[in-house]
Amino acid sequence: ANETSFLLSVEGLTVSFDGFKAVENLSFYVEENEIRVIIGPNGAGKTTVLDLICGRTRATGGSIKFKSKEISRLREDRIVAEGIGRKFQNPSIYEDLSVFENLEISYPRGHSVFGALAFKRDAAVRDRIDEIAETIFLADHLDQRAEHLSHGQKQWLEIGMLLIQDPKLLMLDEPVAGMSVAERVKTADLLNRIIKDRAVIVIEHDMKFVEDIAHRVTVLHQGKVLSEGSMGHVKNDPRVVEVYLGH
Ligand code: ADP
Repeated sequence: ANETSFLLSVEGLTVSFDGFKAVENLSFYVEENEIRVIIGPNGAGKTTVLDLICGRTRATGGSIKFKSKEISRLREDRIVAEGIGRKFQNPSIYEDLSVFENLEISYPRGHSVFGALAFKRDAAVRDRIDEIAETIFLADHLDQRAEHLSHGQKQWLEIGMLLIQDPKLLMLDEPVAGMSVAERVKTADLLNRIIKDRAVIVIEHDMKFVEDIAHRVTVLHQGKVLSEGSMGHVKNDPRVVEVYLGH
């Protein structure tokens, strides 16, 4: 693949906090339809990389190109509008609203709509909510208040709240933390079904899950890429075994 075909190109990315380089001269490239997993020891810079991509943290150097457009100086809400969705570890769902309502309020509404247009649009919104609910295994829970969902179902609901905005890049921070084995398997299935026309970046510590989902793995260590490639490649890389997998 040549450079312009990448959905996301991160080049020479650097950020310092009080002189400490949390991410240093980092480059990596993500293609469309790819599930990229970022692994590495605590403090390696994984969360900071996602913070940089979504505009929460500002880089001190380097570039981030999304669909060939430089986004490293855009505000967080502009980056969302460009098509990047980010899920944090703790789900930010509305506990006192139903599954349906949580999805409904997440539906992107560019401008206010009136009359017949609003009616037509509402039907489309309902169809989209049904479709997303199916995808996230919550089709039979649309009327349930979110507070009564299991931990895993809450994680899926938040993924659904992002998916309804149709992001071209979805970034997930430890999506299966605290999930049962069955939920973890379903989450892998979910991710494998949603990567048409988009890419997913996942930070993950659960190596069994990484094996199930990763097309490519980027191993970070001290803010730099230590190793990159298929799971089979990185898990046999002696440097990765030494700093991470061997522990
Ligand atoms: P990981 O997600 O791989 O565990 P982080 O990206 O959270 O690592 O952190 C990388 C390093 O940067 C850590 O040493 C952390 O303490 C530091 N760091 C992250 N964010 C900040 C911040 N806002 N201010 C100061 N130091 C930070």
